[in-house]
Amino acid sequence: MRYQRPKGTADILPGDSEQWQYIEKTARDLFANYRYQEIRTPMFENFDVFSRTSGETSDIVTKEMYDFHDKGDRHITLRPEGTAGVVRAFVENKLYGPDTQKPVKLYYMGPMFRYERPQSGRLREFHQIGVEAFGSESPELDVEVIAMAVNLLKKLGINDLRIAINTLGDKETRAAYRKALIDYLEPHFDELSDDSKERLHKNPLRVLDSKDPDDQLIVDGAPSILDYLTDDAQKHFDKVTGLLDDLGIKYSVDYTMVRGLDYYNHTIFEIMTNSKALGEGYTTVCAGGRYDGLVNELGGPEVSGVGFGLGVERLLLLMNAEKIEFPAENALDAYVVGISDDASLEALKVVQALRAQGFTADKDYLDRKPKAQFKSANKLNAKFTLTIGDKELENHSIHMKNMADGNEISVDIDDVKNDFKDLVNKSF
Ligand code: ATP
Ligand code: MG
Repeated sequence: MRYQRPKGTADILPGDSEQWQYIEKTARDLFANYRYQEIRTPMFENFDVFSRTSGETSDIVTKEMYDFHDKGDRHITLRPEGTAGVVRAFVENKLYGPDTQKPVKLYYMGPMFRYERPQSGRLREFHQIGVEAFGSESPELDVEVIAMAVNLLKKLGINDLRIAINTLGDKETRAAYRKALIDYLEPHFDELSDDSKERLHKNPLRVLDSKDPDDQLIVDGAPSILDYLTDDAQKHFDKVTGLLDDLGIKYSVDYTMVRGLDYYNHTIFEIMTNSKALGEGYTTVCAGGRYDGLVNELGGPEVSGVGFGLGVERLLLLMNAEKIEFPAENALDAYVVGISDDASLEALKVVQALRAQGFTADKDYLDRKPKAQFKSANKLNAKFTLTIGDKELENHSIHMKNMADGNEISVDIDDVKNDFKDLVNKSF
């Protein structure tokens, strides 16, 4: 019997995991600069958390959710995205309370699950890094969130990106636009895909998001939501675009963009690349927007929110395709060779002492001959090779070779165990 990982999942192996850690650390450091704090929510939630928020007609809810009934007959879903769970936690733990500083700025990173057809940059278990900021309706916060995403991608060495933005306006905007869209689409009813036929009256905005090429031809002639904005919605959008201009962030307005989730209003955005690594045309790496009704929808007060989610697998495909250099991994400071059984035991004490001082240190664990151990030291690119033989054991010393210049000295073993840094500074 041979076991294989489930379709659409990946093993992240040593060599790759360092790249993941680098991305995660870069994100954590940057989010800290913007004063966002980490939140960790469960990997599964009650089904309703997602069905209520993502939209009954969205692809996620209709096709992509991993949901099941557990042994207690609870309807459970493996989270397909991060926002709904964070909002659920925000409400349940009353993070909107009078004691919390507003806006409440949160970030998360972790696995998400969607039943999709696996392909490059599209998995069934994938990972997102995301942020959510609650409690301010200011367009400045929309712009901060966009700027932070752009900043993160820049820090990771990606500059060649397209930022598309749009607005879904407020409730009144959407009611008026919904009507206009239905009026436009109805005469095309017979030409639409089955999904779009189904969605035309339930949620016509979804039709704009269709990936069906024939639907897209029809959508190209659809009215623009920008012609239906209320004064408030127009003001909000003008402020966002104005601030993006002020910050020198280049974007284009795409009035056909609606995003795959139902909970957005006002600003929505996608950050895209046309790198071939992610397929033909433009692929979205990071997407987000404002969701002012969502906290209320999940039983909380009227608190607004805005955030983004970034796909880590797609980011990595892009970084590797662009040949972006990752920082060198954990270099080896010292390899300790023991020439006899007694010396090997002493070598173990030395590596432990070095590690306790914060150095990376390793030794042989396979009872290998000295020659093989020296080979390892070379192969692992150790900065120093330390050797203990019978003579060293007798006079309490250790032989130390600087692998960069070949210099060799004999030193007191306690100096290595107690202050290796000082010893290196004095001796080399
Ligand atoms: P798409 O239109 O490509 O299906 P989406 O609109 O479903 O994307 P979002 O729900 O906005 O995607 O998720 C935000 C980001 O998460 C995406 O831009 C992408 O980088 C990543 N992502 C979404 N689904 C997957 C997946 N199945 N595999 C890998 N990454 C994904
Ligand atoms: Mg999708």
